[in-house]
Amino acid sequence: MSQGTLFIISAPSGAGKTSLVRELIESLDGIQVSVSHTTRAMREGEVNDVNYHFTDVAEFEAMIARGEFFEYARVFDNYYGTSRQAVEVLLGAGQDVILEIDWQGAQQVRLQMPEAVSIFILPPSRDELERRLASRGTDEHAVIARRMRDAVSEMSHFHEYDYLVVNDDFTTALQELQSLVISRRLSCSRMSECHAPLLTALLS
Ligand code: GDP
Ligand code: ADP
Ligand code: 5GP
Repeated sequence: MSQGTLFIISAPSGAGKTSLVRELIESLDGIQVSVSHTTRAMREGEVNDVNYHFTDVAEFEAMIARGEFFEYARVFDNYYGTSRQAVEVLLGAGQDVILEIDWQGAQQVRLQMPEAVSIFILPPSRDELERRLASRGTDEHAVIARRMRDAVSEMSHFHEYDYLVVNDDFTTALQELQSLVISRRLSCSRMSECHAPLLTALLS
């Protein structure tokens, strides 16, 4: 069985990556999102082990010491990290895996897995980003102000990514993400592994 592809998706908070990724994995088979560990407080509506594995700082630091993270970073004063084992198991089973991680985590993943495909999602404007952060209704005013301040530094890393998607019209952005996943599945290396018997039969 061929290994799945690892997709890295980054965006400033509020650009719509969680909403887009949710629809993307519902619309395609064979693709899953990795559930990160975080020390931030759970938002209303979030479910432990579904949106994140919510963890305290002591446990997170113990996991760092045991080398259990594929990557981790401090974002908005909280720890966020991806468990190595969970990602390896999914990729090994042929699943495509999405990491919704920040630019620091993306840099760590590229060093370990240069073949990962990275995508940066941009909002259509700063005003719209602020409107989305406020309309989501999950964060207090001070948290929104902090996230808006950090958005520019997150976006300044756009050039490190393979692909850019502007999330203006949601359906268009979703179709662009679907195209990226599908085009990767049609790559010569992946197709020749998946269709080895066909190629043998055609060429014999
Ligand atoms: P949201 O982006 O507004 O939904 O806010 P979150 O609190 O869910 O995420 C905060 C930041 O942490 C974002 O920049 C995420 O990309 C990043 N993040 C989430 N999970 C991970 C992870 O496992 N590793 C890393 N490095 N960053 C993560
Ligand atoms: P992120 O995970 O990047 O922080 P979310 O997926 O939580 O972003 O989206 C932030 C808010 O913006 C949510 O309320 C979501 O419904 C809304 N949103 C996402 N994409 C669009 C879009 N294309 N047009 C309008 N609103 C959007
Ligand atoms: P939020 O707190 O709004 O859920 O997430 C804020 C940011 O943290 C998001 O932009 C997301 O990309 C980042 N993030 C979430 N999980 C991880 C992770 O596992 N690793 C890294 N590096 N960043 C993450």
